[in-house]
Amino acid sequence: MKTKETLQVSELFYSIQGESSYAGYPCLFIRLAGCNLRCSYCDARYTYDEKGRRMTIAEILAFIEESPVSLVEITGGEPLLQKNVYALMQALLDDERIVLLETNGSIDLRQVPDEVVKIMDIKCPGSGMDHHNHLANLQYLTSTDEVKFVLGSRQDYLWAVDFLKRNIITPFPSSRQRPKILFSPVTSELSPTELAGWILMDRLPIRLQLQLHTLLWPGETRGV
Ligand code: SF4
Repeated sequence: MKTKETLQVSELFYSIQGESSYAGYPCLFIRLAGCNLRCSYCDARYTYDEKGRRMTIAEILAFIEESPVSLVEITGGEPLLQKNVYALMQALLDDERIVLLETNGSIDLRQVPDEVVKIMDIKCPGSGMDHHNHLANLQYLTSTDEVKFVLGSRQDYLWAVDFLKRNIITPFPSSRQRPKILFSPVTSELSPTELAGWILMDRLPIRLQLQLHTLLWPGETRGV
């Protein structure tokens, strides 16, 4: 196992998983530093405004070993910017953890091990980063993976529905084949109730996602 390899780490913490279909479960988080995007609504700017600290995979595993929880998420920033993240994923899988990867969707997923649950953003126009979507990544997602759209407006919603129909629902008509689909509102810009109404009206196979950690710990941005 490659445990001497190093990564630039923004923070390590233990919390309730706030997003994805794993929301609500206790989870260990490995937040890596650095991001190649600058989304308009970003609430994790410290991951690229600050350098973080360099840690070996062995040191990260030592933090993980302190907890009996099997669910571990690697997030950022954008975790796939660091080449040693693949060795970290493999080390966690070898340790029999359930590994979630949150990625912004701009970087090729080919090297990510199949056993890792990929939670990939599709950036909507309101983020200002939709031109970075790496659409070839859709071919590497399976029904155990998830795609997430963060929506700030009705325009984002309509764009996301059109994207879904063209790129996910039409190619994969059976829900058993396609990744899970998450719609998450930027709550300062789009009412969750309004979004819920649109999802019901359009009868689409979408999971409404509210950031559970922001409801549990309002105003906290780190370590949750
Ligand atoms: S990809 Fe994530 S971390 Fe990077 S700027 Fe966008 S919201 Fe922030």
